[in-house]
Amino acid sequence: MGKRIVCACEDVTEADLAAAVARGFRDVESVKRYTGFGTGFCQGKSCLSGAASWLSDHGLAREQAAPFTPRPPLTPSELRAFAGLDPDSLGPPGPGIPPEPEPWDFARLRPEGALPERCGVAIVGGGIMGLALAYNLAKRGLTDVVVLEAGYLCAGASGRNGGGVRMQWDTETNIRLARRSIELCRGFARELGVNVWLRQGGYLFLAHSDRVARRLERSASLQRALGVNTQILTPGGAREIVPELDDRRVVAAAFNPDDGVIFPWPFLWGYAEGASRRGVRVETFTRVTGIEVERGRVRAALTDRGRLACDVLVNAAGAWSPAVAALAGVRLPNEPHRHEILVTEPLKPFLGPLVSVLDDGLYFSQSMRGEIVGGMGDPREPAGLEQGSTLRFVARFARALTSCLPVLGGVQVLRQWAGCYDVTPDNSPILGETPGVSGLLQMSGFVGHGFMMAPAVAERMADWMAGGARDEIFDRFNLARFAEGRLEREDFIIG
Ligand SMILES: Cc1cc2nc3c(=O)[nH]c(=O)nc-3n(C[C@H](O)[C@H](O)[C@H](O)COP(=O)(O)OP(=O)(O)OC[C@H]3O[C@@H](n4cnc5c(N)ncnc54)[C@H](O)[C@@H]3O)c2cc1C
Repeated sequence: MGKRIVCACEDVTEADLAAAVARGFRDVESVKRYTGFGTGFCQGKSCLSGAASWLSDHGLAREQAAPFTPRPPLTPSELRAFAGLDPDSLGPPGPGIPPEPEPWDFARLRPEGALPERCGVAIVGGGIMGLALAYNLAKRGLTDVVVLEAGYLCAGASGRNGGGVRMQWDTETNIRLARRSIELCRGFARELGVNVWLRQGGYLFLAHSDRVARRLERSASLQRALGVNTQILTPGGAREIVPELDDRRVVAAAFNPDDGVIFPWPFLWGYAEGASRRGVRVETFTRVTGIEVERGRVRAALTDRGRLACDVLVNAAGAWSPAVAALAGVRLPNEPHRHEILVTEPLKPFLGPLVSVLDDGLYFSQSMRGEIVGGMGDPREPAGLEQGSTLRFVARFARALTSCLPVLGGVQVLRQWAGCYDVTPDNSPILGETPGVSGLLQMSGFVGHGFMMAPAVAERMADWMAGGARDEIFDRFNLARFAEGRLEREDFIIG
């Protein structure tokens, strides 16, 4: 059979589209993510209409084949052009372009079939947390589980992040959780049959000030005491790892060769498929609109597809978790904060580690496809569920990146996007029981590091929910700690 190309940039064929549809991806956003069509140099300009019309001729309803959200910049543009802009002259962060639809704006894709009438565990949110938990519950024999996801898989932060996985943390708990997660990443393909493209090129943290250098040293000693291989380097030592680095502002660096990056999307597919194979129902385009609580106990999730009675409801809605908790009359202290990120054209592999400057929140790495993927927090970003892309971000990022690696000035930005960090007052998650509402469990507040924590946290949460021994993390990180004034600070945050 001839090979009929749909997307020349990414070498996607009609057979690839057919394989995606056969695998259950039934909307353009998901098919794009599964096949990669439209993510190359032309950003879908030459393939989108062809792919959409092929999909609508092959089983997708016309509205399912609607075009995906366009991403700036309009054409690939060199980093040095953005670096020449003065970010402060661009004003504070605005809504950006295009304003991102909420996941439920895809409600036109809502499945027609009914939900089951009841289940043991309803999980709100089909991001990495909800799906990893569903899979781990099923693995322990708890298969009467329904995941309710308002959009497509990957609609939330789990489909928008940098894929960094690191053991370099400030607290013993996070070091241990991240180490376990990396172990699970290494075995993911063996266990779930999906390649998550883990590349352990290390994380290189750079300090531009004595204050940050001292922090790196303190954290490195704790990490080493726990068996992590972090070394403190001089600027020259950092240059041995990244020869292209301009080290004039570098005071010190920390490097752990066992940290790495993964490709986030297959992680979600792997957990979703693994859970579904064991009997879990993963219901996409199904939004939870209410939570029924009777005499202090959760009774049901109310959705835009009807009522689902449940014994336990897990709030794994990431940046939307305060809104979901509010449906049960519960107030969570976390706040969403937009974080922007971009990807460049692919380059020959040259960059081993993910590099991050803790002083200004810059981070970047090279993906297995050769692209530079990176982002940077903005101290002026207000709280809110904003997910549009701004020129201010790309100007700030391009400046910071090209002053770190000047050789990248001529590299072209292909696409920028944004997601929300789910920020708690102490940068630690909210896990476990909810005071006053039995059966309502929290699994949110993972700030900018939930992806790398999910495999390990989900494993422990599933053990605990399946009747295993009491686990101290569900007491220490519970919601009650905020009312009790018992904060669990973690400050090793990028961005
Ligand atoms: C730009 C960026 C870079 C990042 N980089 C990293 C990194 O390098 N490493 C790392 O570990 N982490 C990183 N993170 C953080 C990480 O992505 C998140 O911590 C993690 O994905 C959170 O997963 P989640 O499942 O809790 O939330 P999400 O993935 O956001 O999932 C929540 C889901 O709930 C759904 N939902 C919301 N409301 C409802 C409702 N009413 N009914 C049903 N469903 C609902 C949403 O549609 C969404 O899909 C980054 C985040 C961003 C934004």
